Amino acid sequence: MAHAMMRSATNYGTGEHVALLVQKYGGTSVGTIERIKAVAHRVAATRAAGHDVVVVVSAMAGETNRLLDLAAKISAQPNPRESDVLVSTGEQVSVALLTMALLDLGVPARSLVAHQVRVSTDGVFGKARIKSIDARRMREVIAARGIPVVAGFQGVDADLNITTLGRGGSDTSAVAMAAAVKADVCEIYTDVDGVYTTDPRICPAARKLERVSYDEMLELASLGAKVLQIRSVEFAKRYKVPVHVRSSFSDEPGTWVVPEDPSMEDVLVTGVACDLNEAKITVLRVPDRPGLASQIFTPLANAHIVVDMIIQNASEEGFTDLTFTVPRTDHAKALSMVQAVAPEIGARGVASDMSIAKVSVVGLGMRSHAGIAARMFDVLAGEGINIQMISTSEIKVSVVIDAKYAELAVRVLHKALIEDGLSETSA
Ligand code: ASP
Ligand code: MG
Repeated sequence: MAHAMMRSATNYGTGEHVALLVQKYGGTSVGTIERIKAVAHRVAATRAAGHDVVVVVSAMAGETNRLLDLAAKISAQPNPRESDVLVSTGEQVSVALLTMALLDLGVPARSLVAHQVRVSTDGVFGKARIKSIDARRMREVIAARGIPVVAGFQGVDADLNITTLGRGGSDTSAVAMAAAVKADVCEIYTDVDGVYTTDPRICPAARKLERVSYDEMLELASLGAKVLQIRSVEFAKRYKVPVHVRSSFSDEPGTWVVPEDPSMEDVLVTGVACDLNEAKITVLRVPDRPGLASQIFTPLANAHIVVDMIIQNASEEGFTDLTFTVPRTDHAKALSMVQAVAPEIGARGVASDMSIAKVSVVGLGMRSHAGIAARMFDVLAGEGINIQMISTSEIKVSVVIDAKYAELAVRVLHKALIEDGLSETSA
């Protein structure tokens, strides 16, 4: 089954059957005039092979940052509505330029921005969520054998205000368009050639995955493998859109992000991820009474601080230590909130640590195979790396360690759990 899928995948572009493809080109793929022309040639070739294409583009590399910088120079707190009017222009530039390049190649392309497609979102400026997409306009262009070139990242709310979907949001635009037009595949063209078993800059033995399930990708994406915006993977999972992450700089197949099939459980560990963006807070010697955890965590939740791992040690003489992690960017705020409640709840004090790393192993095979966590702890112990916190889910084991051992941990875990064949049962 897996092979059938890979075969049909590599057939795209060879003209063996007609498909409807969404092709999304990220910022580096349209970063220069030459790159935009190269993208136009790729789109034209896909169409020449007989396929229908919807193109979704990001702003040219660096453009969104440039626009945000302008806003920051005008105002200490730029108005969110106007900020979205500003940053959405990056994508408008890209769709116009790419469409011109396609027209020059004789391809009947037509640019569309969000209000023309009608990408409807909620009204949360800067991180709007897509509510619906009207596929009619795109279908009309396709029916006339033209190519809709759609601006990613942007939408319109119920009052016709321009909204944007958050950084990296054009991935989500593309997957949502693919769901709306019922595309056979959503190709995400980027500057890396796929999703790797771990970060190749840390571990040269990392290898490209042929395919990965939505759930594994969600874990890997949220753990710092920043290839796709997380929300795009949630969308793909909900609407079962096959996503092909690949490089616009080559013709090699990349990584398929797809629904699970039973053979995927044969691989015990699919990837090792490392996240250096969390900080640890410990509330010391908390009296062991009902309601205390709620007193600590409710204010954090109200402040929209996302708490990740939590551990509470076994109570000794009626006291317990409570440790949790938060995003590093929220550390100062979280710490002062917890310091404020500590005396009220009779805790002895609060300690915190910014230099931690969360290292995780992810794989569908963990569902049905015991012993991965034990093997992981064993490997870390072999290097003398102390584990400060542990958390597990059905397909993931995460540990918090001292940040200075992060790269070593990734390398030894990758070696033991992926390279040494543990993940390749029998086959
Ligand atoms: N241009 C936007 C950004 O830089 C959206 C995207 O590229 O996906 O975040
Ligand atoms: Mg991106």
